[in-house]
Amino acid sequence: MTPELMAAGAQALAAHRGETAMPRPAVMAGAEPYFGQGVALYVDQITVSFDGFKALNALSLTINVGELRCIIGPNGAGKTTMMDCITGKTRPDAGTVFFGSNIDLLRLSEPQIAQAGVGRKFQKPTVYEQLTVFENLELSLRADRGVKASLFSRLSGVQQDRLGELLALIQLETDAQRQAGLLSHGQKQWLEIGMLLAQDPKLLLLDEPVAGMTDEETERTAELFLTLEGQHSLVVVEHDMKFVDQLTQGRKKVTVLHEGSVLAEGLLSEVQANEKVVEVYLGR
Ligand code: ADP
Ligand code: MG
Repeated sequence: MTPELMAAGAQALAAHRGETAMPRPAVMAGAEPYFGQGVALYVDQITVSFDGFKALNALSLTINVGELRCIIGPNGAGKTTMMDCITGKTRPDAGTVFFGSNIDLLRLSEPQIAQAGVGRKFQKPTVYEQLTVFENLELSLRADRGVKASLFSRLSGVQQDRLGELLALIQLETDAQRQAGLLSHGQKQWLEIGMLLAQDPKLLLLDEPVAGMTDEETERTAELFLTLEGQHSLVVVEHDMKFVDQLTQGRKKVTVLHEGSVLAEGLLSEVQANEKVVEVYLGR
């Protein structure tokens, strides 16, 4: 039975008993997201006001399952605030945010949202500097939302294999025993992405992931994201147009945010030629 049918059934039952029916479909903490309709993230008409100033103004956006979507836009456009709303850090004044077609993120706490499978990478790397690369990944694997492993037990064979895969994916195999604090800025960012992936998120939000990276690191980050596309849904906020170009490969849609709303959506070449976009963002 689909979650929608179950929710409809629960509502019908509640109505029959004379109880107040739930206004929205099933959203219990611990529920698995349902992706059968192809939608990973559904943001509809969200508004966030800070002292009367609208950081988000009826923002709507849909990310499909497995999609890699780049979000661009000038400073102050509301990109980070949008991620804050999806991850439960900020509550919008109005609007809807669904993960899959069944999980109402506005009803879950920040930890519950992470637990449901939404991973977020902040701009600044946050790894345990004193621990090795390996240990950092090991800790995240143990914190895997699906696994209740003791800190003192040995990693299972499956976990060891996964750790090896992650090290290869983030290209830190030869640095596995190095202290994380000794890595380059770019390597720390990759390690943090590896730590996020260890928790097996279905949706990954990445806020300016290549800021401060060298050109080579930026290129390798794009390659990494392209390998994640399909298995995960990714939302990438970035100013680096070369990076966005590499990610979109001339065929993926990008979204331009401005003053808390979507200003334009289309291929990078299309939005780059859009007069409004040039005026508020690219032309400066
Ligand atoms: P972006 O990430 O696109 O640069 P932000 O989402 O960080 O933009 O900010 C959008 C607008 O909201 C900015 O004008 C910013 O100053 C404002 N803002 C963000 N967070 C807060 C807050 N906690 N209190 C007041 N204003 C905020
Ligand atoms: Mg920001």
